Amino acid sequence: MPYLHAPEDLGELLEGEPRFRVDQLRDWLYKTPVLQTEDMTNLPQEVRSRFSDRLWPFTVEVEQSADSGTTRKWLFRAPDGAAIEAVLMGYPRRATLCISSQAGCALGCTFCATGQFGFERHLEPGEIFAQVAYAQAFLRQIGMPGVPDHLTNVVFMGMGEPLANYNRVREAIRRMVEVMGLSARAITVSTVGIVPGIKRLAEDPWPVYLAISLHAADNELRTSLVPINKRYPLEMLVAAAWEYFEKKGRRLSIEWTMMDGVNDTDDQATKLAVIANRLRAHVNLIALNPTPLTEETASPERRIEGFARLLANHGVNVTIRNTRGREIDAACGQLRIVAGKSGIAG
Ligand code: SF4
Repeated sequence: MPYLHAPEDLGELLEGEPRFRVDQLRDWLYKTPVLQTEDMTNLPQEVRSRFSDRLWPFTVEVEQSADSGTTRKWLFRAPDGAAIEAVLMGYPRRATLCISSQAGCALGCTFCATGQFGFERHLEPGEIFAQVAYAQAFLRQIGMPGVPDHLTNVVFMGMGEPLANYNRVREAIRRMVEVMGLSARAITVSTVGIVPGIKRLAEDPWPVYLAISLHAADNELRTSLVPINKRYPLEMLVAAAWEYFEKKGRRLSIEWTMMDGVNDTDDQATKLAVIANRLRAHVNLIALNPTPLTEETASPERRIEGFARLLANHGVNVTIRNTRGREIDAACGQLRIVAGKSGIAG
């Protein structure tokens, strides 16, 4: 499985072959990824056959399409049974891939499908990067109607908390930026608030976007929804986010999942406005995609609009995000539930 080797170590796979063959293979994996080894046209059959049945570090267990073919969701399965989810969302000028950094998640946010499963394991850098390569190959070779033929954005908003798997995520980002050539400005790392991870990210050379999944604007409510808030309370999180902003000069975003009667009150909006203004952050509101495993339900549309208006009245930049892929359960961890229900999952 070549993606499990660092790009610099691919020579180990092609022992005895000249250097240019290793470079060719690296280009097929990183620069112009392809869905199968047969498409690596300048590599001799003998070389391709060395890894033809194991190009990807996972198999595609479920593939679903929605929104007239402009949303595609994959449930990948690693050989040890770990589930990896990725969602590709196409727009006229953008193709955004949402990727996973862990199989499962240990942080147990109450409203999150992945959180209810618990933690399986960290994903390796190659498993994280391969999601990007797979989507890139998909766009180039199969494509989506009216969507660019390459990825324009990658967001770490799938399964897992990326900053709880720091070193591997860092290495995956390095491969995206330094080997694939994706702009760091096209990458967003989303965290529920692992403060030491935010500080480390600030030290790294790449100016990736930082998104804070806030969901509540006071410690009491936040700890009840996002238990890690107990260890890294709001004051610490806001201070670390500000430090990141100052160091990188990248606008921060705040993600807020709207839950009916939970965090959609005027009081929360007012408190959120204070934090958003302090961080000069953009706020994204998204209705909860409820799952059979979570108690919370989505805020009604009118409440979301009212909440957004209140924020705007306080001078906050706010966007109501549409929920892509509703009919295919495109929120993180949800495809796995569906697969489990239908007996597909192991
Ligand atoms: S919201 Fe993110 S951090 Fe929280 S349980 Fe889900 S995957 Fe983990």
